[in-house]
Amino acid sequence: MSNPWKLNDAGLALLQKADTVAREVIAPAAKELDEKAMFPKGTLGAMRDAGLLRLVSAKEVGGHGQGLRAAVATCERFARECASTAMITKMHFCGSAVIEAHGNMELRKAISEKGKVTTLAFSEYGSRSHFWVPVSTAKKAGDKIKLTAAKQLITSAGNCDIYVWSSKPAAAEGLSSIWAVPVDAPGLKIPQSYAGLGLRGNASAPINANDVEIPAGWALGGDGKGFDIMMGIVMPWFSLQNCAVSVGMMEGALERTVRHVTKGKYAYNQTVIADLPQVRGWLARARLKIDLVRGHLLDSLDAIENSRPDAVMRVLQSKVAGAETSLEVHDLCMRVSGGAGYRKDNDLERFFRDSRAASVMAPVSDALYEFIGKAVCGMPVFG
Ligand SMILES: Cc1cc2nc3c(=O)[nH]c(=O)nc-3n(C[C@H](O)[C@H](O)[C@H](O)COP(=O)(O)OP(=O)(O)OC[C@H]3O[C@@H](n4cnc5c(N)ncnc54)[C@H](O)[C@@H]3O)c2cc1C
Repeated sequence: MSNPWKLNDAGLALLQKADTVAREVIAPAAKELDEKAMFPKGTLGAMRDAGLLRLVSAKEVGGHGQGLRAAVATCERFARECASTAMITKMHFCGSAVIEAHGNMELRKAISEKGKVTTLAFSEYGSRSHFWVPVSTAKKAGDKIKLTAAKQLITSAGNCDIYVWSSKPAAAEGLSSIWAVPVDAPGLKIPQSYAGLGLRGNASAPINANDVEIPAGWALGGDGKGFDIMMGIVMPWFSLQNCAVSVGMMEGALERTVRHVTKGKYAYNQTVIADLPQVRGWLARARLKIDLVRGHLLDSLDAIENSRPDAVMRVLQSKVAGAETSLEVHDLCMRVSGGAGYRKDNDLERFFRDSRAASVMAPVSDALYEFIGKAVCGMPVFG
């Protein structure tokens, strides 16, 4: 296996396992998952068996001690087959990174030893895509915390084990606090199941909480310190993995498109669609766009690992670069696939619908352009 991600030997061996899961479990299940809006429980079982759910947990708690680089590579590979599964994986690694940094031993071992699945439950009806200002509440009650919230669009809702949950602080100053919330905590309700245009297999449902009790020891970081965790851990993990999912989806869409245009014959003269120079030109554009984003993603990993001065800019850019380029590349693939691209018997239609999500997932592309624009003009980015 080639190693464009520059993984260490252990990371490369784990990516090989991810590749096997992608080929043998994710790819065969993708169509039904989308059609029936099913959650990929079987895939999570295969990931657990392959040790992939503990990819980013530290070795000291029984994990593999891999970092963002291996997480990115895994998400990219999965997204070539099924964006829903890749998104669930991405959210699990984001939540795992927060729990690793701020969770107690019980929570960390829940991921690394018991194979529990986590996700980010940030988005709320009240603050919509502005996840950094939750309006939901946390109240201290003895040695417990009581959470009340109306969360919207939470990946893996009801299907994971632990939510990494944002709220206003219980008592401290600050914009937010972060908590670990067990999925079966009394008082949590999923008022409706997810029915979306795309990513139909990731159970992105709303969650209501009414005085849901968790132990005070399940705080992730200090009260009022949520913003620091969001910016310091969640933003880089979320943005780069999101970019990786976009890259994987673009690769998957292009591969399927090339298969179609090199095989789809005009019977009257036995030529294929790819014999048309204009079609090859569109495919060349698609290839170039994907490679540009892939290069940016690799550079973003380098920037973070080396604490380069441009690391914050790379983090802000990576999600929007992936999401917006993915819209363009999926458009190009649909264009040259013609009527065949519209049909449900062609995977491309699923990829096209799934590709719409990234730009409206928080931080939405328009907000990221605004942050990047402020940085370009020398203004305070989050001011
Ligand atoms: C499939 C899917 C899965 C998701 N999974 C999760 C999850 O696991 N956890 C989670 O917490 N959330 C999740 N979300 C929610 C997501 O992160 C966003 O909160 C949500 O998609 C935002 O939608 P909204 O309608 O509330 O956005 P709004 O805030 O209403 O924004 C609508 C539009 O307004 C514009 N806009 C908004 N803010 C700005 C700004 N600051 N600057 C410029 N323009 C702006 C943009 O054009 C934006 O698209 C998921 C969303 C989807 C679609």
